Amino acid sequence: MTRPRILTGDTPTATGLHLGHYVGSLENRLRLQDEYDCYFLIANIHAFTTLADKPEQIRANTIGIVKDWLAVGLDPERSTFVLQSEIPAIAELTFLFAMLIPFNKVMRNPTLKTEIESKGLGDTYPFGFPMYAVGQCADILAFRPELVPVGEDQQAHIEMCRDVALKFNQLYCGVGNRVPPEEHAKAGGVFPIPAAKIGRVARLVGIDGSNKMSKSLNNAIFLYDTEKQVQKKINSIVTGRASTTSPIDPGNVLVQYIETFLARERAEEIKAAYASGKEVLDGHIKAELGAAINALLAPMRERRARLEAPPQPGAATSLPGGSPGGDDLVLDVIRRGIKKANAVAEETLIRAKEAMGLGFGPRTLGR
Ligand code: ATP
Ligand code: MG
Repeated sequence: MTRPRILTGDTPTATGLHLGHYVGSLENRLRLQDEYDCYFLIANIHAFTTLADKPEQIRANTIGIVKDWLAVGLDPERSTFVLQSEIPAIAELTFLFAMLIPFNKVMRNPTLKTEIESKGLGDTYPFGFPMYAVGQCADILAFRPELVPVGEDQQAHIEMCRDVALKFNQLYCGVGNRVPPEEHAKAGGVFPIPAAKIGRVARLVGIDGSNKMSKSLNNAIFLYDTEKQVQKKINSIVTGRASTTSPIDPGNVLVQYIETFLARERAEEIKAAYASGKEVLDGHIKAELGAAINALLAPMRERRARLEAPPQPGAATSLPGGSPGGDDLVLDVIRRGIKKANAVAEETLIRAKEAMGLGFGPRTLGR
């Protein structure tokens, strides 16, 4: 029996992933790796929307993020790692889908608007920046997935992706506009209508307390941070209490982290203590929180260190397939995903083009 598919991914705008990724999407990916046929995409072309002048950085970030995937426990033997720039069908689908989305709808997309503001892009961002939202529809639909595990910030993009798939199936596959989304594929649509799967924490706030934790906003605790760095970042959280007996604002970032990273009972105890008017020292709570986060990250750090260690001659490698160590090992994993990903994405493109009356001949690409 074929398993239903998942597609999700990350943009290499920084050297690695953070706790927001972990609770927003990685946890779900890990949990669903056996139940679903998973495709995890590195959106390296989309990184050029904000880093076009830094191609080397994007390349290094790509390797860093795949290392984090491996460190967290995503398994290239069970799931397919997809490098966006090596999947030509995605670029072609992006162009075709761009005809199905009103320009003004893209420009009103709340996720894009928030990003333009929080990343300070002003009005000088490239045409490709809003275009990435259309590209993301192609990233997803190229793999015809049922589920897309993402954080809440991606909800508007997934909505757009669903709209594109609905419109495509209605326009080109004869699917009636009364057919419910979940029955589109059965009714002859090329695309199933994918659903977002939001993580345990829909939107983890950054240590600055004002924005979502984000790679690009200098407010993240990275999965590869050292124990000291993690504790330092936690210590930098501002609770804004007037004294050690004052209550804490329930919306404060420290409270969200307590609820997210400490056991439920302990979190309730701490919140009750803060509300009681008795003395609570933020420093003690921060030390406990830092220790809990460090315990969560310890096995990831260990696996990452093993990945980064130079290969020992004759030693068994940490990954099946007899790969070398370090960056070479990561490149090897990336290359192994490309073939399988292209097989699926090419099939999607061929089906889509046929539905659009563009099926003029075999796709030989010069061969
Ligand atoms: P950038 O700042 O470059 O946009 P990012 O930190 O937002 O980077 P992305 O690569 O854009 O990371 O997002 C990857 C995935 O992680 C998406 O599914 C996104 O919804 C999820 N995610 C990112 N940040 C958070 C967060 N703070 N809380 C929950 N989920 C998050
Ligand atoms: Mg983002």
